[in-house]
Amino acid sequence: MSQCKTKMGSGGTCLCVNCGFTAPHQPSLPCKEMKCPHCGKSLFREGGEHHQLYLKQQQKKGII
Ligand SMILES: [Zn+2]
Repeated sequence: MSQCKTKMGSGGTCLCVNCGFTAPHQPSLPCKEMKCPHCGKSLFREGGEHHQLYLKQQQKKGII
């Protein structure tokens, strides 16, 4: 029924990589559609594809 079947399912956490804010992921609302209440940035799905990509980019820059 779902258009997106991943092993992550509908649970999980949305994460602001800027300040570390987290919010429970809502099945009807993608994390990237949510904004951090502290810094206004789009949230990442914790451990998700884009989050891992972001972390790799940061490691390349030597920030982490
Ligand atoms: Zn934030």
